[in-house]
Amino acid sequence: MQNACLRRVFCLRVELILAMKTVYLQKYNHAYIFAPQALTGTELALRQNLLIKVSAGKIAVMEQVNPEALPAALKKHPRFYRLEEGLTLLPCLIDAHVHLALNGRAAAKGPIPPGAAKIDLPQGIVQNLAALLQQGVGAVRDGGDRLALNVKAAKMIEAQSLPGPRIVATGEALRKAGSYGSFLGRGFNGLSRRLESLASEETGQVKVIVSGIVSFSTYGMVEPLSSFSLAELRAVVEHAHRCGKMVMAHASSSQAVELALRAGVDSIEHGYFLSERQLKEMAARGIAWVPTIIPVAVQARQPLCRQWNDAEIDVITRTFREQVEKVACAAALGVPLGLGTDSGAAGVDHGTAVLEEMQLYAEAGLPFQAILQAATAVNAAILGLSHCCGSLELNKEARLMAVRGNPLTDLKALQKIEWLFS
Ligand SMILES: [Zn+2]
Repeated sequence: MQNACLRRVFCLRVELILAMKTVYLQKYNHAYIFAPQALTGTELALRQNLLIKVSAGKIAVMEQVNPEALPAALKKHPRFYRLEEGLTLLPCLIDAHVHLALNGRAAAKGPIPPGAAKIDLPQGIVQNLAALLQQGVGAVRDGGDRLALNVKAAKMIEAQSLPGPRIVATGEALRKAGSYGSFLGRGFNGLSRRLESLASEETGQVKVIVSGIVSFSTYGMVEPLSSFSLAELRAVVEHAHRCGKMVMAHASSSQAVELALRAGVDSIEHGYFLSERQLKEMAARGIAWVPTIIPVAVQARQPLCRQWNDAEIDVITRTFREQVEKVACAAALGVPLGLGTDSGAAGVDHGTAVLEEMQLYAEAGLPFQAILQAATAVNAAILGLSHCCGSLELNKEARLMAVRGNPLTDLKALQKIEWLFS
């Protein structure tokens, strides 16, 4: 019986994969997309009957055209993609916090792309990249891994030797030796030597670890701060900024968030138990927040909940519920609210986790438009890619997807991707 169920789930998954048509637009000089409706600009404004000309992967022309008036020559163009009535074209999603080198479950679930065996990258990463594309994720920011495999993956994708979302890499996370996160970075003792290598690293941003992780047994407790002093953290941030790299800070507990804010980081990652005052400061200074609710929420769900007792489930539930409320508060205060999943963490799968995180934002009472903006334009800014990603606009990259239905009225439409342009 269980086998039959599993088979059905598997078949459904395969069908979904087969149903999605993928077009790598960057390969072609010119291509045209006609969308009966599209969500355009950073505001995701709905426009009807949009004809888009893509040149070398970028949106070169956007115009409203009556479908009856589409020129016959255009309809015959080998790279003319006419989207069916009922589909909505929108920018691909962005996940602002992943760990490509980690797999939340025993094995990655993405399909193995043809030729993957020849790629010099752990197969788990290749599968994670495929799983992200399958959910319409067109860009990610990686929060680091000990071997800096995220840098390698980013370079391979840029060189088009591997399909996948665009990656903003951080390489190895910066952590003090002996503090939390040995799987994210080797840890260092002498700061100045570590800073020297920062400029030459092929990374887009810098990840610093300012705290441990939240406790699932004692409510409100976070593993102790890393031993960064404010002066050291400031030195990291200033040096990173001089190298043109933004700094993402892993910081839970209001104490860790305070240290990160004083040091001038660009985004607070996780930020469990941060205070309303800190959110107000972030809004005023334009510091982004990526709350990553799903890695905690998933602990209270099957099958992971089996490893916790009732009291621990209670702590986990209170912790993520509080985070959901803070998301509502952050949105009301005008904090640049991004969306990241920490996928690769236990129980958090690459790709699907984005939709789960969006669902938690919906539970916070955020309008669907604000949730989609967090996962597109706001995330693009957090990744430092506003100039090229995160919205359907002139001169931006045509990383787009077409879904059945309209995600502004039903987020579940994002599960029904029919076209992926990348
Ligand atoms: Zn992380």
